[in-house]
Formats: sequence, structure tokens, C-alpha cells
Amino acid sequence: MKFERYGAGIAKGMVVTLKHLFRHPVTTQYPEERLTVSRRTRGNELIWDRERCTGCATCAKSCPQGAIRIVTSRGEENDYIVEEFRVDSGYCIFCGLCVESCPYEALFMGYGYERARYRRRELVLNKEELLTSEKKQPSGYARPKVEAALPPQTLLLDRDGVKK
Ligand code: SF4
Ligand code: SF4
Repeated sequence: MKFERYGAGIAKGMVVTLKHLFRHPVTTQYPEERLTVSRRTRGNELIWDRERCTGCATCAKSCPQGAIRIVTSRGEENDYIVEEFRVDSGYCIFCGLCVESCPYEALFMGYGYERARYRRRELVLNKEELLTSEKKQPSGYARPKVEAALPPQTLLLDRDGVKK
């Protein structure tokens, strides 16, 4: 009690400050510097495989947010034709339930994370916007084969000059 009165608390605080003063900074200068995200990241852009999708709508039924809208028509071979497949990513909470529930592995979480928009309506993804492209690739979340092909995540502790 007496000892604390003589500034032991301040001394302890200063020791912590000094320890951190000489550590290599771990901040990242985004957007100039980008880290590689986890292979299983649930990025804010769903990706849809038109060829695999049967229009069963299991994904839409699994979505707790009601963010997926699917409209189908009957095909000639008694199959479904997907007329509309729309995801309102403004309502999506990126839980991944739609991806996990798809019986045909036709839906993927996105690997990207830069989809900030000024207007909510720009967050609605239609059929064309849900397809994969050069700028848009699927994440390995619930898709082990995709995961195996992605690069390992950058961990702050692995970076050059950072003390392990
Ligand atoms: S990730 Fe979750 S909230 Fe988003 S569309 Fe899929 S099920 Fe719905
Ligand atoms: S669950 Fe899969 S196959 Fe069924 S509609 Fe959704 S994406 Fe298509």
C-alpha cells in the first residue's frame, strides 16, 4: 500500500510503454499494402455457379435474412430454369448458411472484401454480378477444393521484421 503511494503504478505503466516503444509496428498501410485474407474468409460477395445450380432454392430457404430471391420456371425436361437469382448483400450477414446448405456446391462465399458502396441499392447482386470474374473469386469457406488452391493467409507475426 505504502509502496504504491510512491509511484509504483506509474513505473509499471512506463515499463509497458518502453517495451512497446521498440517493437516493430504491425500496422498495415491499406490500401497501398494488402494482406492475404484467410482461405476460408466469408467475403461480402456471394458467387454463384450458373452451370451447377438447379434452382432448388435451398439456399434461399436457409437464409435467416431473406436476402436471396430466386424465381424459376419449368424447363422442357421437367427441370427448373433460373429466371432470377438475386442477393441483397446489404441485408446479408455473411453467415455462410446458404453456401453450406447448397446440395450442388453452386454457391460460394466471396474471397474479396472491398464492396463498400454509397447507395444501398448498389449492394443488390443480380445473376450476372453473382458470377465469378477476374476480379471476383470464391473463398474456400465450406469448399475444401477451393481452399486447397488458395494462398496461405498473411499473419502479422509472419511478416518480415516482426518479432515472433
Ligand atoms: S450468407 Fe447468410 S445472410 Fe448472407 S445470403 Fe447467405 S444465408 Fe443469407
Ligand atoms: S441451393 Fe444451390 S443449387 Fe439450389 S438454388 Fe441455391 S445455389 Fe442453386
